Amino acid sequence: MSKPQKLTVVISQAPGKNPHKRQLEEDLATQLMLAGTAEVSLIPQVYDLPEDHHAWLWLKSIPGDMVVLGWQYPRALRWTLDRNGVRGREGLTLLRSEEDDESAELTETQATGIGSVNVPPRRIFVLDLKLHTQPQPYLEEIERIAREATVPLVSLGGFSLGPSTPNTVSLGNNSSPAPTLRPATSPLDFRLTAGSDAPPVAVEARRRWYPVIDYSRCTNCMECLDFCLFGVYGVDGMDRILVEEQDQCKKGCPACSRVCPANAIIFPEHKTPAIAGAPTEDAGDFKIDLSKLFGAPSALEIAAQERDVELVADGRTAVGMTVGIPKRQADKPSGQRDDLDDLMDGLDALDL
Ligand code: SF4
Ligand code: SF4
Repeated sequence: MSKPQKLTVVISQAPGKNPHKRQLEEDLATQLMLAGTAEVSLIPQVYDLPEDHHAWLWLKSIPGDMVVLGWQYPRALRWTLDRNGVRGREGLTLLRSEEDDESAELTETQATGIGSVNVPPRRIFVLDLKLHTQPQPYLEEIERIAREATVPLVSLGGFSLGPSTPNTVSLGNNSSPAPTLRPATSPLDFRLTAGSDAPPVAVEARRRWYPVIDYSRCTNCMECLDFCLFGVYGVDGMDRILVEEQDQCKKGCPACSRVCPANAIIFPEHKTPAIAGAPTEDAGDFKIDLSKLFGAPSALEIAAQERDVELVADGRTAVGMTVGIPKRQADKPSGQRDDLDDLMDGLDALDL
C-alpha cells in the first residue's frame, strides 16, 4: 500500500550569511523532518533563481497544497512564484502581521486587478520568516495547514514527479535520530537531504533586481510599459502586461513602482516596505504626494529623476517628465473615485 503523500514545505533561504536567519531556517527544516508531517526542502531565495534553474521545474511539479516560507514580504514571494508558473489559490494563514490584519478586509474588497491565469485548484500558503525569531509559531501553523491540506496526485503544468520521486526527502518520524542537513548531489541539488553528518551548506544564487507584478492589483493600464525606457516590460499573447526582460532593469532603481497607479509593482529587495510588497494599499503613494506640501518632489518627479540617472549612466539623454509620465487616474471612471483621489487632485491643482 502506498504511503499517503505529505504536505510540501519549501524554505526560500535568505541570501548572505546572517547566522540568525540561517539558524531559523535550519531549525525549521530539522524539526519538520522530525515531526514527519511534511516534505521539506531548502532552496536559494526564490526571487534570485534564474528562469532556467531546475528548482522551478521541481516547484511546478509539486502536486496539491504547499507552504513556502521566505524572508521577503508574502505578497512579493507569492507573485514571484506566480511569475514563474508556480501557481495556486492564496492559502490563508493565521500567522499574520498587524499590517496584514489591517489590510485584509481592504484587500479582499479591492482585488480589482486582472488576476492570474491558469490557476490550479490547490493552495499556496506563504509565511513571512520576518515575523518570528523562533521556529515554534511556524511549526504550529504548518501543522494546522497539514491537517487540512489537500495533496492530490495531480500533474501541474504538464510536469509531474508523482508522490515519491527518487529525490524526495524522507522526513523520518518522532523516533528517528535528529537528521543532519547536507546538500543533495542529485540533479535537484538545490535541495537538502537528511541522513548525513556533513554540515549544512547554503546554496547561493546570484543576486537579482527586477519588478514583480501583483496581478491582483494590476489593471493592465500599460503605464509602466510607457514609462520604462529600458525594455523591461512587454505584453503576452493575451495582451496582458508582463515583465519580459527582467535583467534589463537597473539595479537599485524602483522608478516604475512609483508610477503604477495601482501600486502593483513590487521590488522585493527595496528598503521601503511599500515598494517591497508590504501589506499596504496607497500609503506610500499618499505620503510621497503629500510631501509636496513641504516642497519635496512628487512620486512622479522622483520616478523621473531615478529614470534619468539610469539613462545618463547608459550614455543616453535624460528625458525628465517629458516621456511616459501618466496622467494619474485620468481615465478612471468617476464612480471609482474616492476621497483620496479628490485629495490628490486637489493637491495636484495647487501645483506646490
Ligand atoms: S502600471 Fe501598474 S497597473 Fe498599470 S499595467 Fe503596469 S503594473 Fe499594471
Ligand atoms: S525600475 Fe526602471 S529600469 Fe526597472 S523596470 Fe522600472 S522603469 Fe524600467
